[in-house]
Amino acid sequence: MSEFANYRRIVVKIGTSTLTHDEGHLNLRRIEALVKTLSDFKNAGIQVILVSSGAVSAGVARVGTHRPTCTAEKQAMAAVGQSELMKLYSRFFSDYGHTVAQILLTKDVIDIPSRREAAEDTFRTLLEMGCVPIVNENDSISTEGLNFGGNDTLAAYVALVCHADLLINLSDIDGLYDKDPRRFSDAKLISRVDGIDERVLSMAGGAGTARGTGGMATKLRAAQIVLEAGIPMFILNGKEPTILYELMEGKQIGTYFSAK
Ligand code: GLU
Repeated sequence: MSEFANYRRIVVKIGTSTLTHDEGHLNLRRIEALVKTLSDFKNAGIQVILVSSGAVSAGVARVGTHRPTCTAEKQAMAAVGQSELMKLYSRFFSDYGHTVAQILLTKDVIDIPSRREAAEDTFRTLLEMGCVPIVNENDSISTEGLNFGGNDTLAAYVALVCHADLLINLSDIDGLYDKDPRRFSDAKLISRVDGIDERVLSMAGGAGTARGTGGMATKLRAAQIVLEAGIPMFILNGKEPTILYELMEGKQIGTYFSAK
């Protein structure tokens, strides 16, 4: 199984459906538990980069409007929600003695070498300074062709740009199942995946929940990106963010995607 002690720099991705209540408002208790756990990781000498979704949902909840029906509305709600999210992260992390830094990315930053280098420099400097980079897609200006197609993919690229040792995807599901556990009661959790082949891809099923954009297919795509770069990945249920301690203690939880 994984050697958590070897991981010095980790990217943790948390999805909208894990960060928010059913009607879209931010789940403060869960966010605080996540921040406390990650702060403890920092205190233990592990560098942490957080990729957080939830901007659009938080914006909608804050403004009290309907779910966006067009791109302009989605972009506007992301602008409102992103600052709401950062306000909370900043407050909670600061309660535990840590400083956050916001990084908003579009896909061109990954694709254009000079921009990617600039991002690498910024991440490295922030981590050297002991800050916690908090990353999201720059949804308010991101257009077709510039977007990542969701934060599962974004988090994979962030792991590459940060030269992370591990990517942890905190989801609303315990990990990868051999078939859709919402439809089949005998679905079995796969604890370890060594390489993504057709058989593994066929286990992914359809899209995610109403509020999130992910689903297992985008998580497996993210796994492919990081594994190719030699970075392992976990999918864990983020319902109780303290589950991360179990990982640290070497317990076998969620699904581990091993890198060659
Ligand atoms: N960037 C989007 C947001 O913050 C979420 C995208 C995703 O969950 O994949 O609302």
